[in-house]
Amino acid sequence: MWKLNIPPKVQIFPWLLIRKRLQVRARLHRFMPQISPACPFCQNHDETIHHLFMECCFAKDVWAFNFDGSLMNSQAST
Ligand SMILES: [Zn+2]
Repeated sequence: MWKLNIPPKVQIFPWLLIRKRLQVRARLHRFMPQISPACPFCQNHDETIHHLFMECCFAKDVWAFNFDGSLMNSQAST
């Protein structure tokens, strides 16, 4: 992975994700109270790594997206 021709910030992203070091809002809020911990996509939960990648309605839409432009769980396939 380190030898791939991709930008360093993209190379480091999986490492930060696995180590739970991504600077999500809930983490930043601990050190900078002026930053809201709310998820900017749904505004219903704190933006944690788990919420951002697994629980958020936005994340679920991203995971359900197929590269052909359709949604995997689309009801329109009838
Ligand atoms: Zn959310």
